Amino acid sequence: AMAEYDYDVLVIGGGPGGYVAAIRAAQLGLKTACAEGRETLGGTCLNVGCIPSKALLHGSELFEEAAHGTLAKFGVKTTGVELDLSVLQNEKATAVKELTGGIEFLFKKNKVTWLKGYATFEDPHTVTVAGAKVSAKHIVIATGSSVTPLPGVPVDNDAGVIVDSTGALALDKVPGHLAVIGGGVIGLELGSVWRRLGAKVTVIEYLDQLFPGMDGEVRKEAAKIFKKQGFELKLGTKVTGAEVKDGKATLTLEPAAGGAAETLEADVVLVAIGRRPNIDGLGLDKIGLATNKRGQIETDHDFRTAVDGVWAIGDVIPGPMLAHKAEDEGIAVAENIAGLTGIVNHDVIPGVVYTQPEFAGVGLTEEAARERGEIKVGKFPMLANSRAKTNREPDGFVKVIADAKTDRVLGVWAIASVAGTMIAQAAQALEFGATSEDIAYTCHAHPTHSEAIKEAAMAVRGKPIHM
Ligand code: FAD
Repeated sequence: AMAEYDYDVLVIGGGPGGYVAAIRAAQLGLKTACAEGRETLGGTCLNVGCIPSKALLHGSELFEEAAHGTLAKFGVKTTGVELDLSVLQNEKATAVKELTGGIEFLFKKNKVTWLKGYATFEDPHTVTVAGAKVSAKHIVIATGSSVTPLPGVPVDNDAGVIVDSTGALALDKVPGHLAVIGGGVIGLELGSVWRRLGAKVTVIEYLDQLFPGMDGEVRKEAAKIFKKQGFELKLGTKVTGAEVKDGKATLTLEPAAGGAAETLEADVVLVAIGRRPNIDGLGLDKIGLATNKRGQIETDHDFRTAVDGVWAIGDVIPGPMLAHKAEDEGIAVAENIAGLTGIVNHDVIPGVVYTQPEFAGVGLTEEAARERGEIKVGKFPMLANSRAKTNREPDGFVKVIADAKTDRVLGVWAIASVAGTMIAQAAQALEFGATSEDIAYTCHAHPTHSEAIKEAAMAVRGKPIHM
C-alpha cells in the first residue's frame, strides 16, 4: 500500500533543536526529513553562534595571556607577540566547518534526509521546500531565532560599521573603539573577544546592570569585574540613534530615565539587544497557527502546538534562547512523537557566559527564591579556593541557595574561570532534588575549582573550612 505521507516526521530547521529532533526521531525508527535553507546544518549555534564565538574567545584569551603577562607570570617568556587575525579567523572557520560537517555525517549515518531549502506550510501535514511539496504525519517547527533590530541603528554587516553578532564574529580588523549596544551574554562575550585583541570597548545597557535575568549579586559583581578588565560601562543608558560617516559611527545616547543626550563615536557598533523567533515566511497563517505577543509559538508540555500534528521546539518557543535547551527539547519532542515520554525540566536549564571569568547559574536567583519563601544562602569566594588561587584567578564566588526548611537546593550561581563546567554538578543536584547537605557531604577532588561549590554548600547551614 502507498504510504499516506512521504515521511513520519519532518523537522523544519537544522539547528540544535531541529537536527537533534531529526536524529532522535530516526533513531526511534521513524522515517525522518529535515528542511534547512542554510548552506550548512547546525543552525545559528554552529554557524554564527556558540561555536564561532567560543573559537574567538579561546584564541583571544591565548593572545591576551601571551601579550599581557599571564604567561610571563608563570615564567613563560614571549617576545614580539603579534596577532594574525586572519589565522585566528581561519581557525574559527575550520571549527565551524568540522562541526557542521559532523552533523551532515550524523544525518547520513542515521538516515535523516536533508531537504535543502526553506519550508513553507501548505497545510498541517504538507510543506513546500525548494518548489517541491513534501508531506509528513508530524511536522516539528525548529526555525530558531535571529537578531532583533534596533530602530534607528540599521545593521549592515557588509559595510562592517554597524554590525550584529554575525558581523562581529567576522571582523577582519581589530576596531579601535567598539561600542556594544546591549549588556547581555552575546554583547559581553564578543566585547571580550575584541577587547582582548586590543579594542577599547564601551558597553551601553538600558537596564541598570548587565546580564538581565541573572542573580542580582552576580550582576553587580559582573560590572565590577568587567570594569577592572578595562570595559567602559554605560548602564541605565539608551541609544536613540546612529549616524555613519566616513566609515565611523556616531551614536546618540540618553539616560534611560530621561535627561540630556550625548554622543559617542565608534569604529564599529555591535547591536546585541536580543533575538526574536523566526516565523516569517513559514506560512503559519495557512495552518491557522497564531503566535503570542512576543512572536513565539506556544506549545504544551509535550511541545504540541495548537494545531494537530504540528510541534515546536527551541528558540521559536518561549524559554531561554539556549542551544542545550533546544537540544533537550529536540530529544523530548521526538520521543513524544514516537509515543514515549519526552520531558524537559525547564526549571533546571543552566546558563553560562563564556567570558573570563565565566558566569554561570542554574535554578532560582536569590531574589526569586526569596519571593517563594524562606531561604538560606551559602557563599564561598574563589579567592579562598586553592586551585583558583594557584592559577592566579582571584575573581568570583559560588553561591548556593537552599530552602530554609527542607534544605533543598533551589539555585546555584558561580563566577569562576571554569564556572560553565562547574555548573553541571549543580544542575544535576537540582535535578535530583539534592539538599545543601548532600552537596556538602559529597567528596570533591582536591584541588579543583568545584570544591568551591562544596564549601558554599557547607556555608548554607554552618561554616566552610577554608574561610
Ligand atoms: P537555530 O539554531 O536558530 O536554527 C534554526 C535553523 O532553522 C536555522 O539554521 C535557519 O536557517 C533554519 N530555518 C529557519 N526558517 C526555516 C524554514 N522556513 N525552512 C527551513 N529552515 C529554516 N547558546 C548556548 O547555549 N551557548 C552559547 O554559547 C551560545 N552562544 C551564542 C552566541 C551567539 C553569537 C548567538 C547569536 C547565539 C548563541 N547561543 C548560544 C544561542 C543558540 O545559538 C541558540 O539558542 C540555538 O541555536 C537555538 O537553536 P534552534 O535549533 O532553536 O534554532
